[in-house]
Order: sequence, then structure tokens, then C-alpha cells
Amino acid sequence: MKLLNYIGGVLAEPISGKYLDNYNPAIGEVYSQIPDSDERDVEAAVAAAEAAFAAWSATSPDERSAIILRLAALIERDLESLALAESTDQGKPVSLARTVDIPRAVANFRFYATAAMHLANESHDSVGQAAINYTLRQPVGVVGCISPWNLPLYLFTWKIAPAIAAGCTVVAKPSEVTPMTAFELSKLCIEAGLPAGVLNIVHGTGPQVGSAIVSHRRVKAISFTGGTATDEAIARTAAPMFKKLSLELGGKNPNIIFADCNYEEMLATTIRSSFSNQGEICLCGSRVFIERSIYEKFKRDFSDRLNALQVGDPLKPATNVGAIVSRPHFEKIMSYIDLAQREGGTIVAGGSEVVPEGRCSGGWFIRPTIIEGLPFDCRTNQEEIFGPVVTITPFDTEDEVLGYANSVRYGLSATVWTENLSRAHRMAARLESGIVWINCWLLRDLRTPFGGVKDSGVGREGGFEALRFFTEEKNVCIKY
Ligand code: NDP
Repeated sequence: MKLLNYIGGVLAEPISGKYLDNYNPAIGEVYSQIPDSDERDVEAAVAAAEAAFAAWSATSPDERSAIILRLAALIERDLESLALAESTDQGKPVSLARTVDIPRAVANFRFYATAAMHLANESHDSVGQAAINYTLRQPVGVVGCISPWNLPLYLFTWKIAPAIAAGCTVVAKPSEVTPMTAFELSKLCIEAGLPAGVLNIVHGTGPQVGSAIVSHRRVKAISFTGGTATDEAIARTAAPMFKKLSLELGGKNPNIIFADCNYEEMLATTIRSSFSNQGEICLCGSRVFIERSIYEKFKRDFSDRLNALQVGDPLKPATNVGAIVSRPHFEKIMSYIDLAQREGGTIVAGGSEVVPEGRCSGGWFIRPTIIEGLPFDCRTNQEEIFGPVVTITPFDTEDEVLGYANSVRYGLSATVWTENLSRAHRMAARLESGIVWINCWLLRDLRTPFGGVKDSGVGREGGFEALRFFTEEKNVCIKY
């Protein structure tokens, strides 16, 4: 099967005529071909987006909303086939794609289709100066959206939805590792009647297509989710061009467990927050800190729960942990398990490759892994692994655990488990993190600001903030 680019409202071959292999990670084999696009395809996409901008930005919010709602309804109609496509392409359990990834793509479009109708401008009455100011919010123009492989359609649409709802036109690139649902989305855009050129999807590699989008003079803003190292290259190119940048980057999130927590709820959630999507969620809590009085009990119970997880064929309903997205990423995770042991860590559970019987015997699977005995400042505890691997570390005091939690370069999210209300507030205020979950994890309300501090990003997605990102303010002052 050959995927195609989506440029100017039509599905198109890459200009080079070249294709890249796309793997099914659960079986370790190539199952489709992706356009190996280059800067010429990006140029065509930017031209199409520019041509569409005048009409789309002048389309009334309720008309825009109606089209985007149609798109949401089509994704919902195709939920089963999209979930299967996502699971096959990414390796995640199909049950997860069905209940999280695809419903969230629907929600992203619904949320921004309706939010666009409520975006209001401000006015300031300049009392004493006989003047009034009003502030226009105008869509910035052609924007670039670049997303990663862990939550493919979920994150791709999280950027595209506010961009087009705000009246921008888009050149978007999904990860070359997981392009399938973006291709399916292009077909649904055509069916929904999205005007040609409003969304353009160019497939290909980051260094070729991604950087051509970032460095294109006429792309006014970049919304990027991915690794911190990739972003350094992006920022180097985009910053001197004075582009607007929204950057959602890596994490090394602490999960802090106090002895007074609701233990059963904490345990069930900690299994999810550690290993959902094979630990390949930027919000997973990969450093688990446990108050010393319950450390040994937690270690036993956590290991027992972990050992009960089913690792294997993503299409089996009972599977909890699917395949790692690619061979290079599998090797990266295994190298960190090795590093952890060289740094003096002990494997409490997991730590090895899994070779399932049957059709998935050639796939890339890792048993969820718990490691203990490591100092907070070693590489294993400082660098993002982005896999089903967590460390566990005991602590005695709030100050001590805050020191551990805040010691990393990242600051995306943090979780705190305690029934002590004062402590919960104290911790929330002092954690260096864009998002703090108290007694829960990944409880999302799309109206809230989403993003990281320190090396985890710049700017916030979610709510009206994302719509504002895709607009430029213009103040108009009238003297009367
Ligand atoms: P990457 O940074 O490798 O890739 C992200 C996207 O950028 C991909 O589409 C990639 O293309 C593209 N890209 C790669 N190089 C360039 C370049 N030079 N110029 C422009 N674009 C480029 O991240 P991963 O896909 O490996 O995703 C994992 C990372 O994403 C983790 O660090 C994770 O923490 C982070 N992440 C952050 C989230 C957040 O909200 N903060 C959410 C989810 C993930 P290609 O893949 O085709 O090379």
C-alpha cells in the first residue's frame, strides 16, 4: 500500500517519486510505503495554503465550525478502522487506540470547532483621552504543524484543529514512523468538504520535510511536539526568522507517593501512568518516589501488578502493553536498561525483551521494567527514556523529594499522591512543572493550559490559548 501527500485538496505522489518503508512494529515487517517528500512538495503545500488563506480566514466562524464538526463526525464514524490503523502503525493496543487516541482526535476537532465561535476581542475605553482602543485578533497566515509518533492522530489533530479553527491554513507533517492515520485524515478532509489548501499534509522525514517547513519564509508560525534535541535544531532555524513558536517537548516526570495516599487508587493509576502506551507518553511518570514507610510494600504490590500485565499482540483484547514503535527506539530503551545496571541499579521486575508466540514473534516488545537503587542524579534518572521503564526511589521528607523531583532539565508534568490537603497545595506550588496532577493522572480538560517549563517547552496549548497562538493581535486606537 502506498500513502500519498494531501496538497491543495488532492492526494498526490511525492515530486521525487521516492518512497520510504513503513513498518508494523508488532511483526517487525514493512507493510506500506510513505512518500519521501522534499522541499519541492513543501513549496507546493505552502503555495496551496497561501492560495486558500484569503477565503478561509474570511469564512465566518460558524461556517468554519460546521465544516470542522463534519470532519469530527467522520472520524467518529470510522473510529474502528482508524483505531486498527493506529494500532498497526504504532504498536499500541487497539483497545487503547479505540478508547483514547481516536476519541481524542474527535474531541480535538469538536472542541476547537465550537471554541472558535466564542473567541472574543477586547476593547479598552481610554477614559480622559477621548479615545477607545479595540484589539483585532487576526489569523497569522500559513502555519506549520509537526507532531511525533507516540500519539499520532491525537497530537496531529491537537495542533491542526485550533489552527484551522482560528482561520489559519496549515502545512502539517506527521512522524514518518506513524503516518497512517494522517493519511486517512486527508481522505476524510476531502469527504467533509474542507476547502482545498486549508490543510496540507506532507509525508517524509524530519530533516527533509520538517526542516523545509520550519525554514520556509512564508510559514509564519510553528507548532511542534517532539524531542527536546529536535527542537534545538528547530529553534535555531525559526528564532532568527521571528516565527511564532509553540513547543511541546520531552519530560522526565516525577510521581510522588506519600504514605497517607489512597493506596489502591494510587497503585492502579501508577500502573497506568508508568506503562500506558508502552510508557511512550510524554506525561508518563518515569521516576516514582515513595515515602520510605511504604516503600517495601509498594515495591511488592507494584511488581505483582506489573507481572500480571499482558505484553504482546496489540490486536488481542487482553493485551495491556503492545509493541515498541520502532527497532531503533527498542534498542534505545534496552540500552537504558543496560545503563541503569551499569550505574548500580537493580532490576526489580521486567528488564528483558519479550518474544510473543505466533504472528508477533518478529515484533519489538519489552517487558515493563522497574529499577531501584539509583541516585536521583544519575543518567537513568535524568534522561528521557520514553519506554516502559521506571525507577523507584524512597524518600523521607517533602523537601528531599522536591529536590529529587526538580533536579531534572525537564518540567512537563508531575503527580502527587496524598490525602493531606495542605501538603498537596504546598507540593503543587513548589514543583517545577507545567502540569501537576494530585491524586490522579492524565485527567484532561481541554480548556486547561497544557505545556511544560524548563526544557519541556515554550508556550501553552489547550483552551483559548491555542486559538490565540494562531492569531496575531492588532490594536486599533480611535480618538473621538
Ligand atoms: P522527534 O523530535 O524525533 O520528532 C518529532 C517530529 O519532528 C517528527 O515529525 C519528526 O519527523 C520531526 N522532525 C525530526 N527532525 C526534524 C527537524 N530537523 N526539523 C523539523 N522536524 C523534525 O520526536 P519523536 O517523534 O521521537 O517523539 C518523542 C518525543 O516527543 C519525546 O521526547 C516526547 O517527550 C516528546 N513528546 C512531547 C509531548 C508534549 O506534549 N510535550 C507529547 C508527546 C511527545 P520524523 O519522525 O519523520 O523524523
